[in-house]
Amino acid sequence: MPIASCSRTYHPSFSSLEADVVLRSTEGTLYRVDSYTLLTTSGLFETMFRLPQPKTQYESSSDCQVLADIRETEEIDVYESDDVLERLLPLLCGLVMPRWNTLDQVERILTVAEKWDTPGPIASIRSALTSPHFLRSEPLRIYALAKHFDWPEEAKLASTHTLTLDLHDPSHAPILERMSSKDLLPLLQLHRARRDQFRLLIDSPERFTAGNSSPYHCSRCGVTQLDNHTWRELKNAMFLEIDRRPLGDTLGVACGESAEWPESLACWEAKCKKEGCGGFNYDRIATLRQIRNCIDSLPLTIEV
Ligand SMILES: [Zn+2]
Repeated sequence: MPIASCSRTYHPSFSSLEADVVLRSTEGTLYRVDSYTLLTTSGLFETMFRLPQPKTQYESSSDCQVLADIRETEEIDVYESDDVLERLLPLLCGLVMPRWNTLDQVERILTVAEKWDTPGPIASIRSALTSPHFLRSEPLRIYALAKHFDWPEEAKLASTHTLTLDLHDPSHAPILERMSSKDLLPLLQLHRARRDQFRLLIDSPERFTAGNSSPYHCSRCGVTQLDNHTWRELKNAMFLEIDRRPLGDTLGVACGESAEWPESLACWEAKCKKEGCGGFNYDRIATLRQIRNCIDSLPLTIEV
């Protein structure tokens, strides 16, 4: 909470008279900051302070001279809100900072940190970006930020967490539209690769002998040739599901929504029609296990 002093409102954490530069927020709050700190931590301020000062009487541009000039400077309007400065300045000055509340807040500060060219705060924010909470709740935005800042490990981690999302859902359009095609393409490729590779795997006769070999006869009586339409319908339903949710964690499970699909029930209940046989067409547990094996072999991250 800003405090008023001598008709001016200083932020309580940045009111020391020993600090020789005064920054002013868009709300008019003043922040006293040591000029040497700004000069050494921000490329923007370094450039600004090294610009020729109108009142200078020295030709030298040594740090001492630059700082001497700054001390003559009055308040500097930084055109950022208190909300931003209350977060960014502690990072610049090495002060304790409270935890990040929302990704909106992180993104806002990161944008200004980039504008101010401040590697220290950016590095600090980078480590907070991949907290489990943010990764679970907003993986797509983290992916977009990580790609923008060219942070490959964070982008890979975030790409894995996006696999719960259907990128075709219109709710994601605002984030996708802000990304460059160069950044977006690897993510689309990952989602598509999982879907397409899954289709190839579940069509494999080696992995699913009963369903995909033709002809294949009832394993119990050895007489009836299997009619695999229930397996084909289940495969189609699984393909649509992995297209919607590329993580595939809803597939190959004995309990849960996909276990109750009409296509699943029909497939597991399909039996040999030969009188007196009645053998099940497919081994449900072994087939589910094989479906999980297929899912587990799919790529999990973008390629960097
Ligand atoms: Zn049979």
